[in-house]
Amino acid sequence: MKVRSITEGDTEVLVPIPVEGANFAPSAAPVFYNPVMEMNRDISVAATSAFVKRMEPDPEKTITYVDALSASGIRGLRIANETGIHTTLNDWSEEACDLIQQNIDNLEIGHNTIASHKNANVLLHEKHFNIVDLDPFGTPAPFLAAAARSVINLLEVTATDTAPLCGAHLNSGIRKYAAIPFNNEYHSEMGVRILLGRIARELSLQDKAMNPLLTHATRHYVRTYLEMKKGAKQADKMLKNMGFIVHCPACGNREAIYGLAAHIEEKCGRCGEKNMLGGPMWLGKIHSPDFCSETIAELEARNCGTKQLAIKMLELCRDELDIPMFYDQHLICKKLGVSASAIETVIQELRNRGFKASRTHFSGISFKTDADISDIEIIIADL
Ligand code: SAM
Repeated sequence: MKVRSITEGDTEVLVPIPVEGANFAPSAAPVFYNPVMEMNRDISVAATSAFVKRMEPDPEKTITYVDALSASGIRGLRIANETGIHTTLNDWSEEACDLIQQNIDNLEIGHNTIASHKNANVLLHEKHFNIVDLDPFGTPAPFLAAAARSVINLLEVTATDTAPLCGAHLNSGIRKYAAIPFNNEYHSEMGVRILLGRIARELSLQDKAMNPLLTHATRHYVRTYLEMKKGAKQADKMLKNMGFIVHCPACGNREAIYGLAAHIEEKCGRCGEKNMLGGPMWLGKIHSPDFCSETIAELEARNCGTKQLAIKMLELCRDELDIPMFYDQHLICKKLGVSASAIETVIQELRNRGFKASRTHFSGISFKTDADISDIEIIIADL
């Protein structure tokens, strides 16, 4: 395999040279490396470091992190090199493992980093890790049971199968996530909440619970950082954040119904048309504003190629209202036959009329609010 040296953050890593085939796609190379995911990894290093500081490490105890699906190892190599915690880099591909070992040797981080050549599910069933990171091809669903069992403090998960998560490939989404998504204007937030709902149910099997610290939907993927809590009572409490979204496609009215045994109205209370039912999904918070600030501070203090972009996105995450689901201003304007205003103008007017309102990291033309669709339409029509 031909390799080249690249630097991300403070870490120089050998990665495969893209090969002809599938338009030089990263997946066509013998070992996977996708430069487009640099921001995902920059945030990973910053968020992991922020979390480790929260743990107030005892110098006598080692904090363990596993990059269960490592490929070139770039993610875990950066964690080891840039945060100093003990890291296991695992991949079932022999070529990937050879490259990982070469990278560990070149970086001289063998004191806190080991390469592992196992099926990720076997490794995660064999060992507990303080921090478990899943960054698979497509869906993380096949690894969630083992990860839920292994993780002690922090679970980090990427999903790149946005089409099944967001309802564009409905049956595939139902098979992987045992839930029904809507492929509508807020499909990106739908994907986040379907994924979190699936993870919550997997954790509850282990009498564990999650506290979402940071979750973002960026380009073609979703990424989440979940603090772990232990015990059946915590799991019961967590599951109270599960529920459904009832949505009327005719008038845009929507309602969040909490609980797994909710009563659902078949017809929309606003226009009488047939409601759609999506879920079960996570309706609880998806970020902790304090953790977003701590991660931003880490990014500010570090070398990373996507610093400005990452900080801008995390500021939107930090400041967005904790209310499912966002509203798309352009869609509402189209229906009303009016032109769209600057998103800040809409938000300010909602606030002037006594509602909560914020921007959202999911979309630059959208907003979150506690106003209902009737009030939103009046306000937008008045602008
Ligand atoms: N985390 C990497 C990064 O940031 O560049 C990318 C990982 S790549 C998307 C997924 C990797 O998972 C591939 O290298 C593949 O060989 C590995 N893989 C897939 N299934 C696996 C399994 N069951 N056990 C271990 N490795 C697996």
